Amino acid sequence: MALRAAIYARQSITREGSASLKAQVDACRATAKRLKLKVVVELVEAPSTSGYRNRGRSRPKFQELLTLIRDGDVDCVVTYKTDRLSRGGGPGWAPLVDAFDTAGRDPDRAVATTDGWVSEFEIGIRSAMDREESKKTSDRMRDVRRREARDGVPRSAGRRAYGYTRDFSGIVPEEAALIDEAARRVLAGESTWGICGDWNTRGVPTVTGRPWTVQTLTSILKSGRIAGLREHRGAVVSKGQWPAIVSADLREQLLVALAPKRKLGRRARTYPLVGLLRCGRCDQPLRSLAREGGGRSYACRSGPGLDGCGGIRIQAQGVEDHVRDIVCGMLADPETRAVLTSLGAAGDGDGGASLVAELRRIESKRDRLVDLYTEGDIDRARYRARVEQLDADAQAIEAEMAHQTGNRVLADVPATYDGLVKAWTERGVEFQHRLTEALLRPIVVKPAGARRRLFDADRLVIDPRA
Ligand SMILES: [Zn+2]
Repeated sequence: MALRAAIYARQSITREGSASLKAQVDACRATAKRLKLKVVVELVEAPSTSGYRNRGRSRPKFQELLTLIRDGDVDCVVTYKTDRLSRGGGPGWAPLVDAFDTAGRDPDRAVATTDGWVSEFEIGIRSAMDREESKKTSDRMRDVRRREARDGVPRSAGRRAYGYTRDFSGIVPEEAALIDEAARRVLAGESTWGICGDWNTRGVPTVTGRPWTVQTLTSILKSGRIAGLREHRGAVVSKGQWPAIVSADLREQLLVALAPKRKLGRRARTYPLVGLLRCGRCDQPLRSLAREGGGRSYACRSGPGLDGCGGIRIQAQGVEDHVRDIVCGMLADPETRAVLTSLGAAGDGDGGASLVAELRRIESKRDRLVDLYTEGDIDRARYRARVEQLDADAQAIEAEMAHQTGNRVLADVPATYDGLVKAWTERGVEFQHRLTEALLRPIVVKPAGARRRLFDADRLVIDPRA
């Protein structure tokens, strides 16, 4: 039975000796006839219109040929010259050989040119050369990429980078303003999830036209790009040849804010006032207490690992609403606000960046410690003692950062009472916590009076910072 053949034709990359596609196909038909093959399909690659740069990149008919071979729909391929199947930046002998191999074809009767069958030996050599060429190409590409990165050349991606014109020569002002807005909201404790929801509601467009997702927004905010920094394989390698939208300091702070929480990790906050309320009896911090049936409260907790007296409890909703009214009322008052903002400004500056740097140093010390321990250079007791010390240092720094962030949060809140209450509700628990922390000293909660079940604002000792 005659072997089923595919004819494959395409324009030669080098123009010399190039035969027209029609002449190629005619010659292949004659060859098939001579070799007693049954031509079942003629695959003619459309001439490339995109010129040299894209040559050979997409050869849809070649892909079709590979599929037909793999699926056993054709037994062999007839082509005009062997160079029709070689790479030139595109697919070539190696995938072809793999396809014949997959289909279990006889390699000596797999490829024919107008000169007759191409031997298994020649196919083997050509495919090896192909692989070598392909490896060289990818090595060269890697070198080029590395050099571009070092020189701060923008990464060439298929899609325009948010905030920038396609060629990176300029900033898109409205998008840059949104990046800046998102950065400040994240540093004020708002979740990226909340910001995405807000932007989608406001109809803020993305580059693709699809809705905002946490992943999209996070990757923009964490990118070195927005700070004018060129990254390569996940690390900043140079100053980019394009304008920055945010400062490098701010971006460092974003990295910390958006980093997955540390191992010792706090869970996401669900009670905004945890850490801001103290027991009126024993002065220990009040903790959250959830009851079955949904009753939430803050309570002084006693028991294993808890230092409280267990004598104070207050209904959460009542105290949260009361604190909201006070905080929003303070901020709606222009004079109070002016004082608070000036306090905030005093604590700002580049302190944030040095704290971030300090935090990084602690984390690398922690890593080194793990190495020392796993290599047996220090024993477990010393390891644990050192780790605990480092964690305590890190927590102190994080607390200071939270304080600075609390000051920063003030710069970016609405001015009216109604606007403030709306922001309080919409921006969520972390925002509520930071705002309260920025405005009020820890609130002491006194024991309940006779009306135990109702919220009693007189139990709260509120002490404004300004
Ligand atoms: Zn107590």
